[in-house]
Amino acid sequence: MKFLTEEEKVAIEKEYSAILKSCPRCRTKEDKELIRKAFDLANEAHQGMRRRSGEPYFYHPISVAKIAAQEIGLGATSVVCALLHDVVEDTDYTLEDMQVLFGEKVARIIDGLTKISNVFEQGSTSLQAENFRKMLLTLSDDVRVILIKLADRLHNMRTLYSMPEYKQLKIAAETLYLYAPLAHRLGLYAIKIELEDLSLKFQHPAVFDEIQKKLTASEKERQLYIDRFSEPIITKLDESGVRYSITGRPKSVYSIWNKMQVKSVAFEEIFDLFAIRIIFDPDPSLPEKTQCWSLYSQVTDIYQPKPDRLRDWVSTPKANGYEALHTTVMGPDGKWVEIQIRSKRMDEIAERGYAAHWKYKGEGTDETELDKWIKRIRELLESTDANALEFLDEFKMNLFSSEIFVFTPKGLLKRLPKGSTALDFAYDIHSQIGDRAIGAKVNYKLVSLSHVLASGDQVEILTSDKNEPQKEWLNFVTTAKAKSRIKDKFKNERKELIEKGKADLEAKFAELEIPITSMLFKKLMIGYELYSKEDIYYKIGAKEIDLENVQKVINRKTRNKFIRYWRLQITKTTSRLPLLKRTSEAPAINSNPELKPVNRKVPFIVDEDSEEQNYSIAKCCNPIPGDEVVGYLIDLSNVIIHKKKCPNAQKLMSSFGDKIVTVKWTTKKVLSFLVRIKINGLDNIGVVNNLTTLISKELDVNMRTIYFDAVDGVFEGFIDLYIHDTYDLDALIRDLKKIKGINSVKRVEKIEEELSE
Ligand code: MN
Repeated sequence: MKFLTEEEKVAIEKEYSAILKSCPRCRTKEDKELIRKAFDLANEAHQGMRRRSGEPYFYHPISVAKIAAQEIGLGATSVVCALLHDVVEDTDYTLEDMQVLFGEKVARIIDGLTKISNVFEQGSTSLQAENFRKMLLTLSDDVRVILIKLADRLHNMRTLYSMPEYKQLKIAAETLYLYAPLAHRLGLYAIKIELEDLSLKFQHPAVFDEIQKKLTASEKERQLYIDRFSEPIITKLDESGVRYSITGRPKSVYSIWNKMQVKSVAFEEIFDLFAIRIIFDPDPSLPEKTQCWSLYSQVTDIYQPKPDRLRDWVSTPKANGYEALHTTVMGPDGKWVEIQIRSKRMDEIAERGYAAHWKYKGEGTDETELDKWIKRIRELLESTDANALEFLDEFKMNLFSSEIFVFTPKGLLKRLPKGSTALDFAYDIHSQIGDRAIGAKVNYKLVSLSHVLASGDQVEILTSDKNEPQKEWLNFVTTAKAKSRIKDKFKNERKELIEKGKADLEAKFAELEIPITSMLFKKLMIGYELYSKEDIYYKIGAKEIDLENVQKVINRKTRNKFIRYWRLQITKTTSRLPLLKRTSEAPAINSNPELKPVNRKVPFIVDEDSEEQNYSIAKCCNPIPGDEVVGYLIDLSNVIIHKKKCPNAQKLMSSFGDKIVTVKWTTKKVLSFLVRIKINGLDNIGVVNNLTTLISKELDVNMRTIYFDAVDGVFEGFIDLYIHDTYDLDALIRDLKKIKGINSVKRVEKIEEELSE
């Protein structure tokens, strides 16, 4: 049964007026006619198509149109484009049809929303990255492309449960990697938070449920505290006759999880799970800024503010348009509480971002900070011919960083990403100034070009006409603009090095009589964590890869057995071992031709030694059974296993989602995996002895290496050991924590350096 039932036809017809109702900006007769036309065309074009969930496909464009209108605040053109956004991609209609029927503007936006689907040449290209770049190219024409894309993504995330798990992982990772930050950058806070929470829910369902449960369980207590905190403020503000509302909002599940990860603390340890928001109805006879400060003054009459926690985004709004006054005050029971003070207008901008700006500024008035940002993206897109993946990294870097404000000698304000150097500033002013820069004066003091700027600095660039960009500059610029300009200067050099590296590699293998095969390149790519042949050639040409080492990497047929057992006898209370030694051993892939290709439709189950089975454990995050993991297919039959939350895995999922496979651990305790734990405590007699005894005897865990160092009565140490799973590890950590004198025991995520024995 593919075609619509009578009930569905009736239900869809009702949606037309529902869309109009959700769009306060679609009021004219022309608007309504145009939407009707798009509605009918899309309805007819998607006839017979159904989504995975079984519902008629047309429900998706309808939902996207409603989100665009209601939650982002877009107008009739956007509603039309949202209704038509999948028509060119999925039906027989072409872009030309769209142009004839709806005009140039609509056709261009739809073009931006249509994915590239032709297959690219093998190599560094990622279809996901290419598509994202394409979308951004259209952004510089019309920001509505991104806004509709975000509406599309939001609806897909809301309905993601009907997708198979490996697709859920791909889509959730992309969302977290690019779309949520983009929503943030465009000031769409509500959408950003929902995208993040939904991503977390699909990536780590158990974690999500647990945090949400704890949030619900602690709600009453939190509300009581909020009431108690707000009461004196309410009394005071009521007396002064201000019209306002005061709310206490818990932080989102994702932001709590993120904080738990970053600070490695438990839910219970995060005390500031909410912020108090005061939103006032401005008195038209006074500037809003004055009213914000007046409220600040009244609040801090009651509660003591934390000296360094005042954020004034009223005098200098954030680049995405956000305006508010934030402060942190000492509340009852010695708790720090964040307070956000905003006018109604500021609040609407905070929630709805770009679209709300239109309402207050009107289209075509002053250039906002957001317009300037879009202009910068356009420059970036035009000035670089970096491959899509490189571009994506740079774009993301510029998207995320928080900002600093610095001043020109004449007192002009410039915004730069945090971490920018004097040279970034020079390139920001003009690329010519960047090229000619030789030094800088920051606050009248002479500094080098690599000097990192701080908010409030006044910067003057010193130039010389004879100066040329230096390659080393790439090591300390952070802005995309500076990077791409300098890279452009060295493009030819890169080409030469690629040629040279290619010749060197070919000569080396001719000498060794090893044929150059694609398997060989795969080994090299994995061994050096590179994604293209070009990169390998380049690194060889630039002598960043030693050819002797190349031979070692490809000669290693199978990885070393990682299950090796030996025990260490520790007799002294504190044994001082040599410092950590760096090794650069890369994982090798199993080239056993008998291995079967991996079937992505079913989870890959890790239940044998990696020599018998075709997987390796990623060194960057070192997962063990019990960890939530995901697999990345390096070829048809080899899987690298990462923790789901590993930043590298996130990146692979968002750029190479088609190579992602779900992974489950066997439930049998047959394998042991290397884990490193970090311990610190007070260096009293016997602590280390108690510790090693517990590890090797009582729990019968196999210890590989141990390293301890004590300074002034406090020790810190690392232990590498082999363990079955997180269950055993958690039990071990619990027992270790019970030893007198031990302060903390934590698992180390990344084992890139081996402890020497
Ligand atoms: Mn869609």
